Amino acid sequence: MHQVTLIPGDGIGPEVIEAAKNVIEAAGVQIDWDIVNAGADVYENEGVLIPERVFESIEKNKIALKGPITTPIGCGFQSINVLLRKKYDLFSNVRPVKTIPGINVPFQHVDLVIFRENTEDLYMGLEKKISEDAAEAVKRITKKGSTRIIRAAFDYADKNNKTKVAVVHKANIMKLTDGLFLQCAREIAEEYPHIHLQEVIIDNMCMQLVMHPSQFEVIVTTNLYGDILSDLCAGLVGGLGVVPGANIGENMAVFEAVHGSAPVIAGKNMANPTAVILSGAMMLDYLGEREKSQVISQAVTETIRQGKYLTKDLGGSASTTDMTKAIIENML
Ligand code: NAD
Repeated sequence: MHQVTLIPGDGIGPEVIEAAKNVIEAAGVQIDWDIVNAGADVYENEGVLIPERVFESIEKNKIALKGPITTPIGCGFQSINVLLRKKYDLFSNVRPVKTIPGINVPFQHVDLVIFRENTEDLYMGLEKKISEDAAEAVKRITKKGSTRIIRAAFDYADKNNKTKVAVVHKANIMKLTDGLFLQCAREIAEEYPHIHLQEVIIDNMCMQLVMHPSQFEVIVTTNLYGDILSDLCAGLVGGLGVVPGANIGENMAVFEAVHGSAPVIAGKNMANPTAVILSGAMMLDYLGEREKSQVISQAVTETIRQGKYLTKDLGGSASTTDMTKAIIENML
C-alpha cells in the first residue's frame, strides 16, 4: 500500500484530480490517499493559503499528486506552486511531450522531454520597486542549481537511449547567468561522450520547435525559458490538456499537469483529464508500479485514438467524467 498526498487544488483541479484518482484505483494500485488542500478556496475558509497539515502530509509521504492552484496576478498572494517547489527543493521539473495519435496537430512525431530548472532564475521572487515608475527582479543562476538539472537531463538521456540533449540559453546577451548555465552543460556533456550536446539560443529554439520539433529528444533549460517552452511544446501535441509533469527533488516528488486552474471552464465538467491522469502514471512509475503506469498510459492513448469520448479542447464533446469512464473501460 503506497501512501500518497492528494492535493485537489482549485478551478478545474478537483475535477481532474478525481478523474486521476479513479483511474489509478481502477488500475488496481493500492494507494492510501491523504487528501489535503491549499489555495484561494482554503484561504476563504481558514485564512491561510497552505494549512500546516499540507506540509505535514507531504513531509510524511514524500510524494504528492497535485491539482493546479490559482495564483492571482499582482496582489499579495505568492504562488503556492513555486513555494512548494522551493521549500522542498524540487529542482527538476520534468515534462514529457509526445504526439498522441488521434489528436489533430500539424506534427505527428514529437517525442521529447523538457527538464526545466525549478528553483532559481527570475522565479526566486526577488523583486523590488526602485522608483515610482520602475521595478527590477533578480535572475540568479548557480553552478549547483545548473549542474543538478543538467545532470538529471543527461542521466535520463543515457538511461532511455537518447542520442542528444539540447541546452537552451541566451548566453549571448546574459553572459554571466545564462553563460554559467551553458558552461555547466558543456562540462557535464564531457562525461557523456555518446550524447550530443545541442546548444540552442532561446529565440531560435522557439522557431525550431514550431518548424521541426522532432529534431529534439531532451531539452534542458532554466526556469523561465522552461516554463514558456513547456506551454509551447504542449501546443505542438494538442494543448495543455494532454501534457503531464513532475517536480522531483532528492527524496521527494510532486506530480502535476503543466496546465493551470483554467477558471473559465472550472466546475463545468469540461476539462480534459488526460494531463493529470498521465501525471498520475508518471507517479506510479516513480513508485515502482511500472506495469500499471503503462496500462494507464496505453488506455489514455487508445481512448484518444478511438476518438469517441474526447473533451472539447480535443475537438470532441465528451465531459471530463465521460472521458475518464472511457479510459477506465479501455484499461479493463
Ligand atoms: P491555464 O493552464 O489554466 O489555461 C490556459 C488555457 O488552457 C485556457 O484556455 C484553459 O481553458 C486551457 N486548459 C488548461 N487546462 C486544460 C484542461 N485540462 N482541459 C482543457 N483545457 C485546458 O493557464 P492560465 O489561464 O494562464 O492560468 C490560470 C491560473 O492557473 C493562474 O492563476 C495561474 O497562476 C495558475 N497556474 C497554476 C499552475 C499550477 O498549479 N501548477 C500552473 C499554471 C498556471
